Amino acid sequence: MIFSPQTYRIADKPMEPFIDADEIWDYLNTKTPTAERVHEIIEKSLSKKRLNLEEVAVLINADTTELIQLIKEGARTLKKKVYGNRIVLFAPLYVGSKCANNCVYCGFRSSNTHAVRKTLSEQELIDEITALEENGQKRLILVYGEHSDYSPEYIADNVRTAYNVKKGNGEIRRININAAPMEIEEFRTMKKAGIGTFQVFQETYHPEIYKTYHLSGKKTDYEYRLTSLDRAQEAGLDDVGIGALFGLYDWRFELMALVRHTNHLEACYNVGPHTISFPRIKDASGLNFGDKYFVNDHDFARLIAILRLAVPYTGLILTAREPEHLRDEIIQYGVSQIDGGTKIELGTYAKQEKNVDLDKGQFKINDDRSLSQIIDELLEQEMLPSFCTACYRLGRTGEHFMEFSVPGFIKRFCTPNAILTLAEYIEDYANKETAEKGWLAIDKNIATLDEEMQHSVKGKIEKIKSGVRDLYY
Ligand code: SAM
Ligand code: SF4
Repeated sequence: MIFSPQTYRIADKPMEPFIDADEIWDYLNTKTPTAERVHEIIEKSLSKKRLNLEEVAVLINADTTELIQLIKEGARTLKKKVYGNRIVLFAPLYVGSKCANNCVYCGFRSSNTHAVRKTLSEQELIDEITALEENGQKRLILVYGEHSDYSPEYIADNVRTAYNVKKGNGEIRRININAAPMEIEEFRTMKKAGIGTFQVFQETYHPEIYKTYHLSGKKTDYEYRLTSLDRAQEAGLDDVGIGALFGLYDWRFELMALVRHTNHLEACYNVGPHTISFPRIKDASGLNFGDKYFVNDHDFARLIAILRLAVPYTGLILTAREPEHLRDEIIQYGVSQIDGGTKIELGTYAKQEKNVDLDKGQFKINDDRSLSQIIDELLEQEMLPSFCTACYRLGRTGEHFMEFSVPGFIKRFCTPNAILTLAEYIEDYANKETAEKGWLAIDKNIATLDEEMQHSVKGKIEKIKSGVRDLYY
């Protein structure tokens, strides 16, 4: 057992709902806390202990400029302590935009007659993956609307096809999925296909509010969605990703609920989510959305810092929905994964087209930098871009994914693997300028390792330079 389960009003049982909206509001409806209490909680988090709901509510209610600054500094320190300077890179690949659900906020919603519906053919899928590999991508997330065409077998077939596409030294080594919730047996099909993480975002955790956004289709069933990742766990799929779509309801409630969901998975399966996502609503085809719950940049940065402190071990994903300047700032408060070179209109990686037509994508993205630009800029900021896929390929998943709780894990595994995958990227894809910055970063990061590891990593880099690929610890 990694963490001891918490006791809340609804006792956690596998595959049973666990959100008590009144309980969450009871925690939130307290006064601004003292600086002393905020300090205490940040200290707890810096000792890498996950926070409970009461403590998260305290951080949320700490809304003076000084206390917010304290929280952001705490998150920055924790991120350095737990993750070092690594940032893992991935790309989303939209496979199908048909959708039987009517989610008010989404360009793919069934009632949107302007949406251009498309499903990639097998050849188009291969072309997209080839283009992604030619850019240096190694980790993908396949994204689907919810439609009978996108059955678990169909998705599993796509996964197998994708793993088999090899272009030059390029290959995809980890495929995550964002698709409709499944039954246990269907999740088994996903696991057999060799997927990494399965993501299902609850969108809003408030049961009543949820109804107002999900007008028809299977997604109207709040509880079926809420318990979906329990079913994944039952199927042995132990890397799961949760998320909330910020802007549907009060961000403070959603933040608490994400932590409650984490507690639930820990209580029932001894392992929290592998990742948490926190997309904000962006413009989409035919979207006419009120701004009652709009989350401004200031609160968005705050909520990410609080989340970092609340769940020190969980990966946090920030996508290209957000603009460049904000991504650069927010990464520092604890984001561990970002997408790079993102295109969300179906079929546009191979055609090298820009995202321009809202009717062709799910929503508007705001950071259209190429992967190579992003890597260059991360290196400028002394970050270490990583394409590492070692843990899941070596079975270090779920409960066995002890990554951050084992002392020395980062120095033994994560930093060396980040260095090796960056070295591969430089050899195969980087321009001269980025390559120079990359080798400098590699030297700097090697110097942080112990002597034996330095020797080992240098040996592997020599092998990479002589053409060997896919070396990891
Ligand atoms: N159809 C599946 C589902 O709904 O679970 C797959 C997910 S959907 C293609 C990916 C995610 O995008 C959704 O879960 C939602 O959180 C997010 N999303 C939908 N509309 C959005 C918008 N207008 N702006 C930003 N994110 C949006
Ligand atoms: Fe369909 Fe997902 Fe969009 Fe809802 S969020 S309309 S289920 S693609």
